[in-house]
Amino acid sequence: MMRDVVIVGGSIAAVTAADALRQQGHDGPITIVSDERHAPYVRPPLSKGMLKGTESVDSVFMAPLRADLDFRPKTRARGLDLGRRRVLLEGGEELPYDGLVVASGARARRLGPPEAGELVVRDLDDALRLRESLTTARSVVIVGGGFLGMEIASTARGLGLDVTVVDRDPPLVRQFGAFLAGHMTRAALAAGVRLVHAPDGVRLAGTPATAVLTGDGAPLEADVIVTAAGDLPNVEWLAGSGLGGPGGLLVDERCRVAPGVVAAGDVVTRVSDHTDLPRRSPHWGSAIDQARAAALALLKGDEAPEYRPSPYYWTEQWGLDIKICGRILPGCETHVVTGSMEEGSALLQWTRDGATVAAATVNHRMPVVKLRKLAAAPVPERTTG
Ligand SMILES: Cc1cc2nc3c(=O)[nH]c(=O)nc-3n(C[C@H](O)[C@H](O)[C@H](O)COP(=O)(O)OP(=O)(O)OC[C@H]3O[C@@H](n4cnc5c(N)ncnc54)[C@H](O)[C@@H]3O)c2cc1C
Repeated sequence: MMRDVVIVGGSIAAVTAADALRQQGHDGPITIVSDERHAPYVRPPLSKGMLKGTESVDSVFMAPLRADLDFRPKTRARGLDLGRRRVLLEGGEELPYDGLVVASGARARRLGPPEAGELVVRDLDDALRLRESLTTARSVVIVGGGFLGMEIASTARGLGLDVTVVDRDPPLVRQFGAFLAGHMTRAALAAGVRLVHAPDGVRLAGTPATAVLTGDGAPLEADVIVTAAGDLPNVEWLAGSGLGGPGGLLVDERCRVAPGVVAAGDVVTRVSDHTDLPRRSPHWGSAIDQARAAALALLKGDEAPEYRPSPYYWTEQWGLDIKICGRILPGCETHVVTGSMEEGSALLQWTRDGATVAAATVNHRMPVVKLRKLAAAPVPERTTG
């Protein structure tokens, strides 16, 4: 019988799981432990509107939590006793549970030790620190040319800073494919960003870091060094329980991990439908969908529907607002359905082996439900590739 539920993590996966449990009629106690000092907030604006200053700090907080949840901020889970069904908290308290939701998310990967002082953007305090630094600095080097790195680059350039982005790979190709990444790269270059290719990786120089060294040793100096080089799943607190590894916490098709334990969000890795290999999908929409599936699985077991990924993610940079449904897989063909990247507004589809696998809007108002349909719809005949 499911009575006490404990949720570890205080962000979107945790809050969604708690809401879903209540909506499904669970009326037992739900305790949420979060090691952050803040009430739950929304992360995507941290590298977009909030960093630019177009969104206020207050606007990033989620709606107040339901009164029937026991939310404990500044509370860190340090261990899990699977056999006794207890979450062990720092300070010694133990929380017994009948059902556990692991929603401990991920943290920013760092290149240097804490004294290197590199900035990252993972939580609200990180974003406030970076915003403050960008308002006084003249130059910034950003390590990482993915979504996050390029969003920060776009904002920093908008603020008039000298901006360098350094990466092992060409920016955004892994996320966007060559066509869209090419346009974004040209937009970055046109805005005056310096892109540095460092195939052998980089390291930080100085304490605190004042430069980034590439493989050939050329120092990239700047007032501010930001690392935006991916994230690491927060699984360390599970050490000793037999659950979780460096790649994340492996779930089954219903987001279950072990008897009475489910997981959702950035901490999760699952076997991909495309590659048969475990992979994470660290996106806001995936965290919500997985949390709903995990809550149902906790209450209904095998009767719960399987989680069906329906990837949706977005980015804002260089004046382009891009929303993507589906997955742009290696070897995809790009189709411009309407508009053009040069005009700054377009509707795109991607196909592989003749089947549509993804669709995107670029500065184009289309409801997400419609975009999802387009991500599976045949490509209209007269499109440009
Ligand atoms: C700057 C930024 C911009 C982003 N932009 C986008 C975007 O545009 N579109 C998109 O789709 N996605 C975006 N993402 C990704 C999205 O925010 C994540 O996928 C989402 O936040 C994952 O939610 P989560 O609840 O799984 O984990 P998280 O948001 O990582 O939250 C996990 C929580 O658990 C807490 N925690 C960890 N360990 C413990 C412990 N042992 N005890 C107690 N608490 C613990 C953490 O402090 C944190 O509060 C962005 C992420 C960042 C950082």
